[in-house]
This record gives sequence, structure tokens and C-alpha cells, in this order.
Amino acid sequence: MSEKSVIQNQLKQLKTKLDASINARSQIEDDFNKRSILLTEFIAKLSRLCKGLDLELDNRLAKLRALLKKAAPLPDIEKEITNLSKLLNKQASKNENNIRNMHNEFHQAGAMLQKAKGLPPQARRELRSLLTENTESKDALIQYVPKLSELLSIYSEVVAAKDNIKVSGKDFAATNGNSAHTNNIDLASYINKFISILNGITLSDKQQQKLNKLKSDFANSSSMDETLLSKIVEVFNIVAADMEQERKTAKTFLSTLSGALSKVQRAVKSTITDSDEQKELHEKINQKLTIQIGEMTSVVESATSLTEAKAELNDKIEGIAQTVEAKSLNELEYFTSLEQQLKTMQLKVIELEKQSQTFEKRLIEQQQKSMLDALTKLNNRASFDEHIAKQMVRYHHKPFELAIAVLDIDDFKRINDTYGHTAGDKTLQVIASTLVKSLDDNVFIARYGGEEFVLVFDSLSYGDLMVALDSLRNNIAKLPFKFKNNKVSMTTSIGVTHIRKGDNIHKAFERADQALYQAKNKGKNQVIYSQ
Ligand code: GH3
Ligand code: MG
Ligand code: MG
Repeated sequence: MSEKSVIQNQLKQLKTKLDASINARSQIEDDFNKRSILLTEFIAKLSRLCKGLDLELDNRLAKLRALLKKAAPLPDIEKEITNLSKLLNKQASKNENNIRNMHNEFHQAGAMLQKAKGLPPQARRELRSLLTENTESKDALIQYVPKLSELLSIYSEVVAAKDNIKVSGKDFAATNGNSAHTNNIDLASYINKFISILNGITLSDKQQQKLNKLKSDFANSSSMDETLLSKIVEVFNIVAADMEQERKTAKTFLSTLSGALSKVQRAVKSTITDSDEQKELHEKINQKLTIQIGEMTSVVESATSLTEAKAELNDKIEGIAQTVEAKSLNELEYFTSLEQQLKTMQLKVIELEKQSQTFEKRLIEQQQKSMLDALTKLNNRASFDEHIAKQMVRYHHKPFELAIAVLDIDDFKRINDTYGHTAGDKTLQVIASTLVKSLDDNVFIARYGGEEFVLVFDSLSYGDLMVALDSLRNNIAKLPFKFKNNKVSMTTSIGVTHIRKGDNIHKAFERADQALYQAKNKGKNQVIYSQ
């Protein structure tokens, strides 16, 4: 083989090796891009999940999304993930604080109940163990906080009024006017208030059944006796059990995410460190190659004969071949480790993806649950508030036939008193489904509270509205209820009004409510329209 072809051969081999390493690099880059897309999608989902929790968190997540979208340098992304991790941790501890406050309230209320005279021994024991075992529970979701606080303050009032104890430093009986009337408190109105608050609490299905049962026990109570007190303790227990369950399943959502994010952050960071080292090594090898090629050129330039150059050139080429060999080896090693790291990162992201899907599902479920009334499965009051607010905005933008009707069951208390609370509950469910069956799909139906429902019509003028409501009233009056072998009929009174220019929700609702009041006064079982 001629010297020239030896050199050509060696150069060809070098070129093949360089090509192979360029190919490998672009494959790794493709792979990296694919995994970055996964990470980007995950961050987008995380943003949706966390939206609204905290403004800074929203902004940071948006920033990270933007960085990922424009494929910013890894160190920038890493910095942002670190910031985000810290923020999520902060958010988790804020969350924890809220929950801790709620627990304090919970404990204060519990302690107050412990002071109540005449608490049955069993209830006292349950209360004591409940208060001890709940001391450490501080990471339940805060969803029930407002409702719970309300519930606790009401039952504190009931207990305070009974035993004339002080509530938050105030003498409750004295704030109510005459302390001589302390023991003549309107128990029925407290119980009604208590029940309407219980109506607003949506728990998991299992606990909800227990709560519904207790609600009926409450409604049938006629005196502030030991049974009633122990029922209050039971409500306390049920809500606490639900919180505990929530705690177990959801754990601390934010800290879990923050922990998982830190893992991703570490994976990205080690990739960066490796790639920095790699860059340095690469530069060294490139420098060496440049020197070696330079030396080769000078050998050729200074050689006086091909024979003289031959020996030296062969040496140099051997040297370059070794350097290129080292370069590919090093690259191979780097690519393998990068590949490994990317795989780990991908696994983490997939794991996070799964977790966030579960959380997303739970959040959606909870949100839907909190907009529905547990007993009738109709929209609840919060849902009505949201709906009517939107309709009012539409109306003020461009008026249309928007009407609100308030429907109240006549003499409903009689059903509870005569046939029991369970019969009352069943009646509410049957009437709710009659509302759904009798009205068009586009009528918004909600349980406003107790035995009151509210309807929102968005396309009926006076005549059609009255026909629709009268036929609804008639359908309900015809329902063949049968309790304890007695045929019972139920009637309803309805007050209705159209929204007018200059109305706000409160004014319009008042008008419909006044019309309902007139319907009751005029003998019930009728529909009254207010101009
Ligand atoms: P009126 O014709 O004037 O409306 O008389 P009424 O008896 O229907 O009205 P009142 O407001 O005196 O009583 C309403 C009753 O509804 C009292 C309360 O115990 C009962 N109630 C409220 N919520 C529920 C519930 O969820 N289930 C049952 N069974 N009863 C409930
Ligand atoms: Mg009523
Ligand atoms: Mg009524």
C-alpha cells in the first residue's frame, strides 16, 4: 500500500469516527428535546393545579413555562425550578398555618364543650379522646375551614347559651340582651340554624350518610338534653374523621409536589454539572487536536523529502488517531451517563404526571361536590350565587327576559313533626326531582336552603313564565305521597319577578321573596308575580 493511501485510509477512519460522534450527539439532542417536552407539559399541568393558590406561584410557574418553551439554557431553568421549589415549600407552610389556626379553633370549641354541664360520660370520653388524638393533625386540606368555623361557633353558642359560659371573653347571654332569658333561648331556631349549616357541609359519601342521619336526629330534638349534646359531639367526630381521611389520602399536596420537583431539579442540576465538566474536557481535546494538526502541517512544510516526512507524519497521525479515539470514548461515556440521567428524569416526570392526574381528578370531584346539594343533588346555594351573578352581568350588558322564582314548600314542618325527619328528607328529594322533570333543561334549579328552592329563567316573558310555574305548582300538588299508610299531599308557594334595569341581585331576590310572602299570606299553594 502506498504511503499516500495509508494516510488517506487513516484520514477516512478519522472522518468516520467524527461522523459517528456527530450523529450520536444529534440523537441525544433529539432525545433531550423529547424529554424537555414532557417536562414542559408537566409544568403546564402543575400550573393549572396550583392556579389561584398564590400570585407569586402563578407567576413563577408562568415564567418556567416560558423558559421551557423557548428552550432556555439549562442553568436558567434549574434556577427557576429551585425558586419554585422554595415557593411551594413556603406555600405548604402557609397552608399548614391556616390548618393549625383552624385546629386551634376546633380545640377551643372542644374545650368549651368539655366545660358544659350535663355532658353524658360516654360523650365526655369521646370528646376527650378526640381532642387528644387530633392535637397533631395539622395537614388536612383547608377546604372545610370556613364551614367548620361557622359550625363550631354556632354550637359554641348553643352550649354557651345553655350553660351561660363565656364565648371568646364575652358573656354570650349578656350580648343577647337580657341574661335572665338565658335558659329561654329559642332552641328551635338554633337547631334550624345548625341544620342549615350542616346542609352546607359536603363530606365524603360514607361520612355524609352519617351526617344526614344526625341531621334528622337534630331536627327531632325538642330539648337541650344529654342526647342532643352527645349528638353535637358526634357531628364533631364525623367532621374530624372526614378531615383525617382527607389528610391521609391527600397528604400535604404541596409539599409532595415540592419534594418531587426537587428531585427533578437535582436531575437537571447534575446534568448541567456533567455537561460543564464535559465541555472543559472537550476543549482540552480540541486544543490538543489543533496543536497536533498544526505540528503535522509544519512537518509537511519543513520536510525536504517525502521519505523524511513519512516517519514523522506517521507518528503524528498515530497521535491524532489516539486523541480522536479518546475523544469518542469520552463522548460515548458522557452520552451514556446523560442518557441514564435523562431516563431517570423522565421516570420522575412520569411519576409526577401520574400524581398530578390523581390530584387533578380529586380537585375536580371536590369542586363539583361543593357545588351540589348533598341531599337533593340539585345545585346548591353557592352554585346559585355564581349562576345569578353571571346572568346579571349578561343582563346589564344586554337586557333579556331574566326571572327569579323562589319556591317554598307549604307547612313542611308538619311532615317532619308528624312522620319524622327521614320522611321530610324523602319529600325534599321527590320534590327536587319533580322540579327537574317539570321544567325545561335551560331553567337553572337550586336548593336555596331547607325547604326552599330557587329557579332562574332566561327566556320567558310574563305569560309563559306564569304558565310554566303554575304547571310546576300543579305537578307538585298532584304528587301521591304516602306516609305510614296515610295519603299526604304537598303544596308549594312561589314568588317570582323579572329582573329590571337598575336591579342588583339582592333587590331582585327581595322582590321575589316578598311575592312568596304574599303567596303564603293569601293561603299558600299559589304563584305570585311581583312587578
Ligand atoms: P310555611 O308554609 O310557612 O313555609 O311553613 P313551613 O313549616 O314549611 O316552614 P318553617 O320555616 O316553619 O319550617 C321549615 C322546616 O323545614 C323546618 C326544618 O326543620 C325543616 N327542614 C329544613 N331543612 C331540612 C332538611 O334538610 N330535611 C328535613 N327533613 N327538614 C328540613
Ligand atoms: Mg321556608
Ligand atoms: Mg315552608
